[in-house]
Amino acid sequence: MSPDNSKNLAHDLDADGFIARFGGVFEHSPCIAEAALAANPGLLHADVGALHAAMTAALRAAGHERQMAVLRAHPDLAGKLALAGELTADSSAEQAGAGLDRCTPEEFTRFQELNDRYQTKFGFPFIIAVRGLDRHDILRAFEKRVGNTPEREFQTALGQVERIALLRLYQITGQPQHALGQTLMNRLEEFSKFSAEPDALTRLFLTAEHRAAADQLMAWMDDAGMTSRIDAAGNVVGRYEGDRPGLPALLIGSHIDTVRNAGKYDGNFGVLAGVAAVAELNRRAERLPFAIEVVGFGDEEGVRFPVTLTGSRAIAGTFGAAALAAVDTDGIGYAEALRVFGGDPDAIATAARRPGEILAYVEAHIEQGPVLEAENLGVGVVTGINGASRFTVRVGGTANHAGTVPMKLRRDALAGAAEMVLAVERRGLEGTDLVATVGRIEALPGAVNVIPGGAVFTIDLRSPDDAARNAASAAIMGDLEAVAGRRGLTVAVEQTHDAPATLCAPGLIAQLAEAVSRCGVKPRQLPSGAGHDAMAVAALCPVGMLFTRCRNGISHNPAESITVEDADLSVRVLLDFLRHFDAAALTH
Ligand SMILES: [Zn+2]
Repeated sequence: MSPDNSKNLAHDLDADGFIARFGGVFEHSPCIAEAALAANPGLLHADVGALHAAMTAALRAAGHERQMAVLRAHPDLAGKLALAGELTADSSAEQAGAGLDRCTPEEFTRFQELNDRYQTKFGFPFIIAVRGLDRHDILRAFEKRVGNTPEREFQTALGQVERIALLRLYQITGQPQHALGQTLMNRLEEFSKFSAEPDALTRLFLTAEHRAAADQLMAWMDDAGMTSRIDAAGNVVGRYEGDRPGLPALLIGSHIDTVRNAGKYDGNFGVLAGVAAVAELNRRAERLPFAIEVVGFGDEEGVRFPVTLTGSRAIAGTFGAAALAAVDTDGIGYAEALRVFGGDPDAIATAARRPGEILAYVEAHIEQGPVLEAENLGVGVVTGINGASRFTVRVGGTANHAGTVPMKLRRDALAGAAEMVLAVERRGLEGTDLVATVGRIEALPGAVNVIPGGAVFTIDLRSPDDAARNAASAAIMGDLEAVAGRRGLTVAVEQTHDAPATLCAPGLIAQLAEAVSRCGVKPRQLPSGAGHDAMAVAALCPVGMLFTRCRNGISHNPAESITVEDADLSVRVLLDFLRHFDAAALTH
């Protein structure tokens, strides 16, 4: 089906009228709108999303020289043109909106210094989409970006120009800005109030606040045209029927439990983004050739009981009965807490889904890492969840007097360990998606005047590719032996953890990537370094994940932050994915 999801925003325009209306979307550069229209005559009938996608494609195709000309057409922020009243109306309104017309003399001087340094280094003015920022945010961004390499900053500036263009397109067309994303952000804010603490978000599994959040979630599910329930394992499940009742379902989910003093987006974002996508289908009365179920899992973080992923495991049919005997630090048992919550520890098996009734599982989640932000992308498609190996390494040398033993006669275990740490880092740098970390190191006996006779350190190795991870760990073991041999040290390695990777289904990766492309974003694929419910659901059906950019890659922290634009983009990607979802293509 191809629903009419937009009004024809440019439909009364001819080509000249189109340029007159949209030529200023890129500052003083109507050539970009002209090129976009020349490449897509259908733009005369397009919505904001398609206009923006076509114009940014025209900008990206315009070549370095033309791109540089677009960047150079922008005025300095809080610059001399602003003082002289010589900005375009758009720039003037945007700068005033961020309070740049109210700079103190000191701030104004600082802007001029930065403008000069920036211009000298990069050859174009500093450009930032100021909407939602105040002048302190802007100064901070300015100070950070002036340190970028020229290549990186050129790309950053182009990304900002594209964002400004989107905001101007909304302005010109009078379309409500990011309506889906704004609603989602408002709900995430409201949802964060279901907490054990008044001023922080702490919502542990099977607590009263978890139950209150579940009730709110069910109300929103009902509102979105779903029927909702709590299953025996404490998962909240909402179902939106397809074009006839009883069809197999696509599962969308994540978790609604949190760590202590959590951010608002980890887990909750994926659940409420799923509800938002269904609500939009429902608002348009769209039914798809399959059902959709949105699930809020309960036990992803594993903070309260010494178990984790029990909700998603119950749905996948792999719940380990031993979890029912788990006890929290207050002595309350898992089974008892589950009963109080509204689940049924004696009927966990009823939560399990049969493979035939679930087509696939898709989880939207904040990235919890810095890759998308560094590449200026709002979303990315996950290839898999990293497998992990952990080791404890013990290096043996000879402890001796730091003053009396000449350098050449020493067997310094810590100096050897230091060389080993760098070898670990080198192996991490060699692999594409491999990360290798030494997070802890200890010198023995650990005294200022003693040559270390022993050193103990850890290695944490992760990759979405188990073969690559195993090859890297073998190579690292060789490196450690070589360093020890050269230095006359002993080395003993103990493996403390080994978990295989969870691969996302190639068909889901492809379909999510197509949806991302259709929403005008480069479909960057990346592995997940953190664990997710998708790991457990993979035992039931093909799984896929969509990552949303989060600020500074921070998670498990109140500083977790995403933008309304990225929230909006994520819901639109989910919607587009749902509208094109082809279960048959997953089996190939
Ligand atoms: Zn999470």
